[in-house]
Amino acid sequence: MSRIDEPVDRAFTIEVAALVESAHTTGRGCLYCTPGDCERQAWARPILAEHRQKRAAACLR
Ligand SMILES: [Zn+2]
Repeated sequence: MSRIDEPVDRAFTIEVAALVESAHTTGRGCLYCTPGDCERQAWARPILAEHRQKRAAACLR
């Protein structure tokens, strides 16, 4: 598997992160899930957190 957190298009990265997160919050999970943890979810979480933070900051104006 190639790394996907390389500088690709930012919007696309956020889109993928949102899909990964959504798969886990609905309980479907993914190929990388283990009983205790998931590296995909661990990858997506900080990306989405940062994105939401920036969006929230932009909405405060
Ligand atoms: Zn997973």
